[in-house]
Amino acid sequence: MFKTHIIEAQTVSEIKNKVKETLVKHYVDELPTDKSAKLIIKPNLNSNMNALTGNTTDLRLIAAVVEFLKDLGYSHITIAEGTNSGFYRNKINIIERLKVDKLAAYYGIYIKDLNYSEEVFIDFENNQKAGVAKECIEAEAIINMPKLKTHFETGMSLCLKNLIGCLVGQANKKKTHSALAYNILNINKVIKPKIHVVDAIISMEGLGPTRGTPVKTGMVFIGKDPYILDLIGARLAGVDYHNVTTLAIAEKTGLISNEHLSFIDKMNLPVTFSFKPPKAGPIASFIHSPKRQRYFLAIRNTAFFNKVCSTESAGKILYLTGLRQDIFLHNEMNCERLSLKKQLCKQCGKCATYCPTGLNPVDVMPIDMPPAIHKGCLGCLYCYTVCPYEAIEFHGTAGFFGEQLRQYNNIIKEIA
Ligand code: SF4
Ligand code: SF4
Repeated sequence: MFKTHIIEAQTVSEIKNKVKETLVKHYVDELPTDKSAKLIIKPNLNSNMNALTGNTTDLRLIAAVVEFLKDLGYSHITIAEGTNSGFYRNKINIIERLKVDKLAAYYGIYIKDLNYSEEVFIDFENNQKAGVAKECIEAEAIINMPKLKTHFETGMSLCLKNLIGCLVGQANKKKTHSALAYNILNINKVIKPKIHVVDAIISMEGLGPTRGTPVKTGMVFIGKDPYILDLIGARLAGVDYHNVTTLAIAEKTGLISNEHLSFIDKMNLPVTFSFKPPKAGPIASFIHSPKRQRYFLAIRNTAFFNKVCSTESAGKILYLTGLRQDIFLHNEMNCERLSLKKQLCKQCGKCATYCPTGLNPVDVMPIDMPPAIHKGCLGCLYCYTVCPYEAIEFHGTAGFFGEQLRQYNNIIKEIA
């Protein structure tokens, strides 16, 4: 009744082969017959922390979906996302930082930051209207590609939550907060992706969506119904779905039916993981308690508060108290070259299993960047980050990427 597939995959070849095979066998009928139809791939590009931190959609999985669509002959494919409003406000281009623009160029497809789209207004709670990107309304098919992660406001972030990225700019995203779960569901009533492909390859537990811990979960869920997939994600992560506000409200309002619940029961899914909950620090927990949150939001949405918070010192205080999860560093990463320290390389092959374009980095080094695209290298640094022997050398300026290394380098090397 609810078409659903759970795939185990960790390496780039497993991800591409298994995902493409499943999509070809079971999901081609969901797509338009017209090969020039406008198709959107909607990943989760929440911050500039790459997929290996558990934060954003894995480039290897996006590549698999792009290859599936291109193999079918579709000519108008766009990777589209309205990235996190804090980065947008700070004029930081996450799409570039995560090398999603390079991936799009590699495959010859379009890229769009939905924060700069024309708005189409939809109904929100309390008689509000919020603007979603016109592209999302006009697309003949959307493939939703969320990341499996915990979320300190909604419990978990999966298919339903990922559509917040269809809202245009910060002003519209802010409107979600007065009734977050209800408004997420309001977006989902209007924008209905044809296929959902959930990145649960490296997920995030703890204080998600940005300050949690990556967990190697090695799975991809594919399906048509976002409620089913979100229920599956919660179950496999060991999270009671009643603690996921989007799912709890969906059940309360009848969007999750008995059919959904009995389908999940019959799947008899094991609790595969036991994700640590997204527990915020004492100050953030105090302010975000249901009794006080609306007062905080009233202040947070004022121009004065936004002005004060955009200063570096206020940003640091917000980060330390846990009221802000992201650090908005303005210095770009500039990788001029990757080279191999042959004496350290043990030929273990790990780097090749992470390359989104299927390169064996060892064979193509040194890689000069830019322009590295001629070699098929996106400059994503997955290979550099996962190498357990530090055999890949980075030449250039780490910039914002230094913060990812500071927070996650050791754990990524451990789990990759
Ligand atoms: S991961 Fe590191 S050690 Fe292993 S093959 Fe690649 S460069 Fe060599
Ligand atoms: S060679 Fe390394 S940096 Fe280049 S695309 Fe592959 S994983 Fe990314």
